[in-house]
Amino acid sequence: MLAVSPKKSKNLPTDRQVKKSPTSGPKGGPRSGWKGLFGGPSFFGNLTTTVLIFLILMSVYSLISSFVQPTNEVPLSVVAADVAEGKIETIKVNGDLLDLVYVDGATKTSRKDPSAGLPETLATYGVTPEELAKVSITIQGKSGFQFWFLTLAPLLLPLLFIGFIFWFLTRQVKGAGMQAFSFGQSKARVIDPADSSQRVTFADVAGAREAKEELLEIVDFLKSPKKFLDIGARIPKGIILMGAPGTGKTLLARAVAGEAGVPFFSISGSEFVEMFVGVGASRVRDLFQLAKKAAPAIIFVDEIDAVGRVRGTGVGGGNDEREQTLNQILVEMDGFEPTEKVVVMAATNRPDVLDPALLRPGRFDRRVTIDLPDRRDREEILQVHARKKPLGPDVVLAVIAERTPGFSGAELYSLMNEGAILAARENRKEVTQYDLIRSIEKVMLGPERKSHLLSKREKELTAYHEAGHALVSSILEHADPVHKISVISRGRAAGYTLKLPFEDRKMQSRKQFLDDIAATLGGYVAEEMLFDDVTTGPSNDLMVITAIAREMVTRYGMSEKLGPIAFGDRQLGNEPYSEHVAAEIDAEVSRIIEEAKVRAAKVISSHRGALDAIAKELIEKETVERADFEKILIANGITPKKKDEIAVEPVVVNF
Ligand code: ADP
Ligand code: MG
Ligand code: ZN
Repeated sequence: MLAVSPKKSKNLPTDRQVKKSPTSGPKGGPRSGWKGLFGGPSFFGNLTTTVLIFLILMSVYSLISSFVQPTNEVPLSVVAADVAEGKIETIKVNGDLLDLVYVDGATKTSRKDPSAGLPETLATYGVTPEELAKVSITIQGKSGFQFWFLTLAPLLLPLLFIGFIFWFLTRQVKGAGMQAFSFGQSKARVIDPADSSQRVTFADVAGAREAKEELLEIVDFLKSPKKFLDIGARIPKGIILMGAPGTGKTLLARAVAGEAGVPFFSISGSEFVEMFVGVGASRVRDLFQLAKKAAPAIIFVDEIDAVGRVRGTGVGGGNDEREQTLNQILVEMDGFEPTEKVVVMAATNRPDVLDPALLRPGRFDRRVTIDLPDRRDREEILQVHARKKPLGPDVVLAVIAERTPGFSGAELYSLMNEGAILAARENRKEVTQYDLIRSIEKVMLGPERKSHLLSKREKELTAYHEAGHALVSSILEHADPVHKISVISRGRAAGYTLKLPFEDRKMQSRKQFLDDIAATLGGYVAEEMLFDDVTTGPSNDLMVITAIAREMVTRYGMSEKLGPIAFGDRQLGNEPYSEHVAAEIDAEVSRIIEEAKVRAAKVISSHRGALDAIAKELIEKETVERADFEKILIANGITPKKKDEIAVEPVVVNF
């Protein structure tokens, strides 16, 4: 019964936060502080590395030279004096290096002027030829390499080093330049038709028959554009796929490319929202250019509502950047020649917020709606995802499809996956029906949290809350009958009530809505009545009923007072209405909810015995299945809703 927040808050500009300077965060440890000092992992960071390398090279060089240069070197004057005194036995001349061996066995070294010979040099120090004759002098020729190395090393090493630094820096600068260069380029992902591992075809998309049929025309055009162009047919430039999250919009767009065998350039609307103004627009330009070069091709803009929202209303902070990006998309699409052979596809799950300019003829004028799959589609989708999973002999996918009304393709995919995970964890080679059944609730509500222990009072409260939902659902004529109640936490819900719809509903009547609202309020009312207090528990329930009540009034014309009028969303600026009407809408919403609350309270107070019995059973057993639940109803003089009216399994959940 804890609040369950709406599924996903879609990717709005989180980029900004990521790009903040790392020093500004309070969590900046030594590492991020270091990075911050040099402005991130950039040029200066690498300069530090360069200096470090330089220092290491220096020490290595001095180490080497200390090997090369023996420590006991004496000046030439000393050598001359020692020669004159006859202390030196031999001198080995090695280039300008002198190795001296003394009579007493000591060895020393010295250096002479490389331009003059040893005798001449010593003569200038006053050594007479006779004195020199007593010393045996051997001239050792250097090996060619040694000579050149030693001669050139002092000259070349610094040069090499400077060269290295230059190379290093240019590489960095080039890297930075490339980055700056690619900044405006599209981050589009391209799927090459030749890449069979990524290839998706219509065979991978189950159900969605109408959508596939519509798109077949596009496939034909992309396959043989000439045929269409020769006869002067105008092929739609823009197709927008609309449907709830997870209904396979992205998958279908890829399948079109796969069927036609053309490259697929995809980018997500949320990626356009960048830090600097103009980047989004230049990305769009690049993306279209790339695609035109590769034509025939598909450009796919996923989640186009992130950039394509109604402009100039201030919703979302009136983002200039978004507007520019949207404008650029429109400009590019208008600039298309019919011969361009590029088809732009886009997807959104919020068609209601799209800027009307996007939907004008010549732009995204072709709309393809993808509905949530019905029972037959669900079975097909399950089959698609069962292809690579070994199923046990007891698996009947039709039953799973029956029990999953309201599931999207993505949820069915994750159901199959959860089933396989369960089997693998128990070291089985096949997925069984039971694995799949267990996975239904897991996908619907999140994993069980057995460790999330409720206090005695919390458990009692949750039990009465769920009993309230279940009881009101069972009594009111148009509410869905109960399938299962539980006070085991799942996901963020402390407890839940699963209800059975009579059929896969495509339409809802006003009476059904009203009874649904009352049943959803059953939890709140039970808490209030029994504990004379209300907790934060029903917050999700309240969100749900408020949304239903508002839609009843503003979309479905189900308020007698306001009549059959559809009011647009005021914030989005479409079909504005007056403050007066806004107040009336609010009053109607309040009235609907208040009346439902009164009805729920009436049910609960007149069946107090049943409520207590259900709650007691829940506290004891934690989960009550339909059969046991109906026994309690019968014991309390309530006739359960007829079974044969019930076609399928859980759909509506109250937390
Ligand atoms: P959307 O873009 O509408 O949110 P996706 O195309 O991303 O949904 O679907 C997510 C995943 O769900 C797909 O990758 C696929 O595995 C599965 N899926 C969705 N719809 C179908 C379908 N009709 N047939 C088979 N798989 C589907
Ligand atoms: Mg998608
Ligand atoms: Zn509830």
